[in-house]
Amino acid sequence: MPDEGVEGLVISLGNPAWQTFEQMGNGRIWVGAGLRLKNLCGLATKAGLMGFEFLEGIPGNVGGALRMNAGAMGGWIFDVVEEVQLMTLTGDIRVVKKADLHVAYRHCEELHDAIALGALLTHATAAASDAITRQIDVYRDKRQKTQPREPSAGCVFKNPDGDSAGRLIDAAGLKGARVGDAEVSTVHANFIVNRGKATSADIIELMRRVRARVEETKGIRLEPEVLLYGKKWRDVL
Ligand SMILES: Cc1cc2nc3c(=O)[nH]c(=O)nc-3n(C[C@H](O)[C@H](O)[C@H](O)COP(=O)(O)OP(=O)(O)OC[C@H]3O[C@@H](n4cnc5c(N)ncnc54)[C@H](O)[C@@H]3O)c2cc1C
Repeated sequence: MPDEGVEGLVISLGNPAWQTFEQMGNGRIWVGAGLRLKNLCGLATKAGLMGFEFLEGIPGNVGGALRMNAGAMGGWIFDVVEEVQLMTLTGDIRVVKKADLHVAYRHCEELHDAIALGALLTHATAAASDAITRQIDVYRDKRQKTQPREPSAGCVFKNPDGDSAGRLIDAAGLKGARVGDAEVSTVHANFIVNRGKATSADIIELMRRVRARVEETKGIRLEPEVLLYGKKWRDVL
């Protein structure tokens, strides 16, 4: 979010009506776009449905996860999506099959100009709740050991093909680099953490420096994974 805010309409799907979790049989679940991923995993665990554990530690809701094709631990949400219900900006409501959606790394084309209302998830297998909990614990433990605790927006840059943005930033000697209170995490170099009062301008300036140094030393131009509300990265970085 830019320091000066955003001129525009913000829609929140925080009402419980958008947080549905409905079992449809055969390992399929209907989830509302406002359901938090953490709650999705908790409800799936209670229902004895295995297959969604990789989503547990990703902050956010189903709608944001669909738009971003959020992923972790070797999976991404579209691995488990069968269809998405969306509303176009002219108010038409449509159900789109996964095969008709253009999905890529941290990207779902159709949701650039439409609002996800819910999704049919699939591929769950029946399992004992404690086995699912154990798997979630393994992922949580891994996240806690490899990611910073301070406030951040998650990974800043996309991983370039065959490499990791964090590794490149670390190899460029940038862990701990700061602009104001924005700091390249010393735990995971692809996170910029807020050490107190970092502004959006501080974070953007640090991103500029990181990107320039990695390009200079490694010859790779990193592209942002995080989105900038109300502006385009190409106009800012
Ligand atoms: C500490 C930390 C760790 C993170 N780890 C991961 C990770 O492991 N993997 C990962 O992929 N991401 C990760 N993220 C990033 C973030 O959690 C994901 O991108 C998540 O999917 C964002 O969901 P959200 O609901 O908060 O969406 P927002 O951030 O609010 O929105 C993201 C985008 O989706 C759009 N959007 C939101 N809801 C809808 C909707 N219903 N329909 C259409 N568009 C919509 C918004 O307009 C915006 O463009 C992390 C973030 C943090 C802070």
